[in-house]
Amino acid sequence: MVQCAVLVALYELTPIFSGDVAVTTDESEENVAPENDKDSECKGDCVLCDTKDTVLQESHSIPKFAYDWMRETSKTGFLRDMDDVNKRHQDGPKKYLLCGDCERKLAVLEKQLAENCFKKIANYQKQKTTITITEGIRVAVLSIFWRALITTDDRSNDRTAEDNIVLKNFLIEAKEQILAEQCMFQICIAPFIGGAPYYDLPSGVTYNLERGCGSQDARFGDNPHRYFIAFKLPFMYFYIFSDGWHASEIRKSTYFRAGNLRLDTIKDIPNTLKTYILDLQHQFNASKRMMNIRSMQQIINDVEKNKKITGSDKSMLRSKKKKQ
Ligand SMILES: [Zn+2]
Repeated sequence: MVQCAVLVALYELTPIFSGDVAVTTDESEENVAPENDKDSECKGDCVLCDTKDTVLQESHSIPKFAYDWMRETSKTGFLRDMDDVNKRHQDGPKKYLLCGDCERKLAVLEKQLAENCFKKIANYQKQKTTITITEGIRVAVLSIFWRALITTDDRSNDRTAEDNIVLKNFLIEAKEQILAEQCMFQICIAPFIGGAPYYDLPSGVTYNLERGCGSQDARFGDNPHRYFIAFKLPFMYFYIFSDGWHASEIRKSTYFRAGNLRLDTIKDIPNTLKTYILDLQHQFNASKRMMNIRSMQQIINDVEKNKKITGSDKSMLRSKKKKQ
């Protein structure tokens, strides 16, 4: 059976509430999660190149461009984390991980990913039907898997000792490949293009597919011992299957290989990913139920202030659409 670790994901939680909650509150920012002090300096060992006792930069688990996009297309200007829906965020989680050189090296690759892949798919105006993938972009995606998993490895999960060894080996191999700027893993992509509902998934998950970010996890199964690793950016998932999966289980995968990829020819995604998406929706719904009245009112106030039709409004509408 597949074992599930705790997920972390950020969303802008606007689609939940109508404007009829009769509680007033001030608009104080006291429950906005504080951003770290930009002038503070942290020294330690770079987790990528292993340089000792160097000045470390704050790295996002998921690249900043994704959070910038979420804010720019949002209705409220704030993000909320499924871990604590009553705190508003303006940025995603960060940790001191990398030296300046490594941070700059990854930033160059991330820019390629943002420009040539992410913005062509996460686009409310016109989505591209073909993207051109380079080795640099593949390494950028691998570096997100690596960073997202090492920044959340202290979270509670139900992995066994055997799982942890396999995950540790994955992280070591990923690190070597990032340093060599060559990705040897078979990364797969599930883009959400052409309008909802996507891939026979219920239309109710559309908002999450288009606007959720993070939710990185490594799930393990026994007999054979194998894993499925995934994270998401708005409008897309990236995932990796380890060895040990039967061809029939992974045949609906779309490989993220260097070259041109026709997105409009992708007709389905693996059932393992569908299960993952539905589990995440379940957790998303559970987190919404934890929201207090003050937070609901903040959302209502923010929504009322913004008269523009935003990407968030569009995704919300698509999420309510009945399947044709
Ligand atoms: Zn470094």
